[in-house]
Amino acid sequence: QKYGVNELRKMFLEFFESKEHLAMKSFSLVPRNDKSLLLINSGMAPLKPYFTGAEIPPRRRVTTCQKCIRTGDIENVGKTARHGTFFEMLGNFSFGDYFKREAIAWSWEFLTEVVGLDPQRLYPSIYEEDEEAFEIWNKEMGIPAERIFRFGKADNFWEHGAGPCGPCSEIYYDRGEKYGCGSPDCTVGCECDRYMEIWNNVFTQFESDGEGNYTELVQKNIDTGMGLERLASVVQDVDSIFDVDTLCALRTKVCELAHTEYKKDAAKDVSIRLITDHIRSATFMISDGIMPTNEGRGYVLRRLIRRAARHGRLLGIEGKFLAELSAVVIEGSKDGYPELEEKKDFIFQVLTKEEEQFNKTIDQGLNILSEMEAAMKAEGKTELSGEAAFKLYDTYGFPLDLTKEILEEKGCTIDEAGFKAAMDEQREKARIARSTTNYMGADATVYDEIDVNVTTEFVGYDSLTCTSKI
Ligand code: ATP
Ligand code: MG
Ligand code: MG
Ligand code: MG
Repeated sequence: QKYGVNELRKMFLEFFESKEHLAMKSFSLVPRNDKSLLLINSGMAPLKPYFTGAEIPPRRRVTTCQKCIRTGDIENVGKTARHGTFFEMLGNFSFGDYFKREAIAWSWEFLTEVVGLDPQRLYPSIYEEDEEAFEIWNKEMGIPAERIFRFGKADNFWEHGAGPCGPCSEIYYDRGEKYGCGSPDCTVGCECDRYMEIWNNVFTQFESDGEGNYTELVQKNIDTGMGLERLASVVQDVDSIFDVDTLCALRTKVCELAHTEYKKDAAKDVSIRLITDHIRSATFMISDGIMPTNEGRGYVLRRLIRRAARHGRLLGIEGKFLAELSAVVIEGSKDGYPELEEKKDFIFQVLTKEEEQFNKTIDQGLNILSEMEAAMKAEGKTELSGEAAFKLYDTYGFPLDLTKEILEEKGCTIDEAGFKAAMDEQREKARIARSTTNYMGADATVYDEIDVNVTTEFVGYDSLTCTSKI
């Protein structure tokens, strides 16, 4: 009995509707009246006004499947089995209505009875001082004490500065030894992909003054989040979120375009997963009205598109391919997000235009580089200055590794320390300019790292060998 992603989304919402929740449509990825957040990164984020009391919720019990983007996870994408920059978060919320007992019981009922996961593979974790949650798991759900993991503040206490906060209880699924890191200490909480966190239940019960003083809230809230792709990966018993039905269709298309097969070459697989993820992010972002630009959300989108395009080239895909992939994203997700189908042509246009521009960037960069080479020759130098390499990278968007490779072919080098110094200086300026407050990992500056990381081992646009670290 295997449920598809679209089916699981429905099952979750219907389950909580049966518990008197109001099922609300996913909010846009663009936060509304919230300057602290670049992009919506959890089910709770767009509901903040209901939690703070700034707005009255349409019902005290709400359930959603929320589109999320986590820029902070970009370094993990392609490398772990469980992270995407885009994912869907299933959630049930209580605004001063039910609390721990119901939240825990329903999460257990949904996982073990509705989707039928093996209870022996599930492990709850609690905040070490949350005896109330322990009692519920232990006495009411019947989970033996040794299967309940206690973690400290860093892992199981949700808190962001002053304001409402509280302990969490997360649910992990043991995917089996073959996914483990092999360490004798590997257990729930290990960063490897064996014990995968699937669901986080946040019990907002305190008000923090930001100085270590907590008072019990009169109106206690429940905020939960479960990654739909992660849930699907354990229900379907597949290797990663990139193997669940909808994402598998997408990565199969990537392979088809690249005339390659998945699981033949580890480095290529990283590129395949990365493209699979980034095209989902890009498709959903454009459908929510974000356009590729040089700042803020638009900058995030531009980087994701270009990074996908570049990895396409690394895989040897010739010509434009992003719109074709986007069509597969839309086909797989239109069930839950009809706006994708409505905005299809527009999405394709934006992707294609950005891809063309990126290709032009590459061509333009090649011209500028040959001028720089001529100047070097005239001066009798064999090393390109860090500043020049940085200008190519920063002004023309030309990747460093490509510059390096071209120069190497001619027996020349780059002053890499100089490049790094110029980069650091620029990054500091950008950091100050873009001093948007970070909130729950929404950090645009993470994109400053991308090009550097992704380009260090580039081996050429004509080459089929992919050695990128990401
Ligand atoms: P992890 O520790 O695995 O990075 P997390 O603790 O950062 O996950 P939460 O912030 O608790 O995740 O989010 C709630 C749920 O959302 C997680 O339990 C997981 O199922 C899902 N989730 C979080 N980040 C991602 C991601 N990058 N890709 C897919 N699903 C995610
Ligand atoms: Mg995380
Ligand atoms: Mg976690
Ligand atoms: Mg968590």
